[in-house]
Amino acid sequence: LKFDNNDNFNMPNLNLEKFNIQNLDIQYQINEQLESHTKKFMENNEYEDIEEIEIPMIFHVVYNNGDNYQYEDYSFKLNQQLIQTYVVDQLNEDYNLENEDRFETPEVWQDLMADFKIKFVINKVIYINSHLELDGDDDSKLDTVKFDKNGGSDVINPELNLNVWIVNILPMSTGNYLMGYAYYASYFKQQPELDGYVLNLYALLLSMSGYGDRTSTHEIGHWMNLRHIWGDGGCDVDDGIVDTPNSDTSHIECGSENCTYPETSSCGSADMFMNFMSYGNEQYMFTKGQMLRARAVFAEGGPRHSMVTRKKSTDDDDNHNHNVIIWCGLVAAFICLILMIYFIFRSVYRCILKYRL
Ligand SMILES: [Zn+2]
Repeated sequence: LKFDNNDNFNMPNLNLEKFNIQNLDIQYQINEQLESHTKKFMENNEYEDIEEIEIPMIFHVVYNNGDNYQYEDYSFKLNQQLIQTYVVDQLNEDYNLENEDRFETPEVWQDLMADFKIKFVINKVIYINSHLELDGDDDSKLDTVKFDKNGGSDVINPELNLNVWIVNILPMSTGNYLMGYAYYASYFKQQPELDGYVLNLYALLLSMSGYGDRTSTHEIGHWMNLRHIWGDGGCDVDDGIVDTPNSDTSHIECGSENCTYPETSSCGSADMFMNFMSYGNEQYMFTKGQMLRARAVFAEGGPRHSMVTRKKSTDDDDNHNHNVIIWCGLVAAFICLILMIYFIFRSVYRCILKYRL
């Protein structure tokens, strides 16, 4: 398979065109608020102190044969086990410092590699039998997949779940694919119906063919408010993270050219082209700075805090249930004891009566 790893980082901005000016102003304020919340969180928290969280995922599989996939030479059923193996397991490795290829990272940066302490679990997989295909060149129609009325599938409780749409996105040109796209956490408030990320079926096929595609890892990074490693601009534009070196290039060329450390460089320093938030074709790692920035969205006051509180309240419910079971057991044991004592005394009393008689 020939491929070109290319996602569309402009997508959230392009989508803003449908907002009126007032909404743009509101969005600007929300962005500013989230940036200041994130800055405070990064100042007041240590990487080591962050606790593990769990993110439930809902997959909307939109394809014209239901779950029977026919794609060029491939024919298979995209069942939950495949999604678990090629999407969720890979995410859990990448976000918990368990991906074996992380040691391909240059030694000088290996101490920066981060465990995000995020566990991803499948909540639900929905199959939509639909003829909908997306055109990678037509940004204005990409989000049609997120609505029932268009032959797609409506978002489900985005305040509690990470929604993913798996759909066929047609190549933009030969070998040039839009692999996926996501919305930043700051857009959740104004457009919850679009929240989550879209994954090109092609990206999944790459993973299944042994190419170890990391589109989901990258897009979820955006969904958690991470920017591209080069900040989507020149040397004066930053990604908001201290421990990623400044860069002015996406490194999409790493697919056809050989990118090496420290030769591949820009802005006066070696480039971290192997970071999951670059466009390099081989990505292995996030940094601790990226971890803190991402985890800010789940902290109190962050746009995705409800996902963490959901987990807590479920845990509380579990504890409550355990307590009820223990108390019921104790009461039952106590009643048994009273009955036993009663019957023993009654039989003894009868014996005594009998003896007297
Ligand atoms: Zn991106």
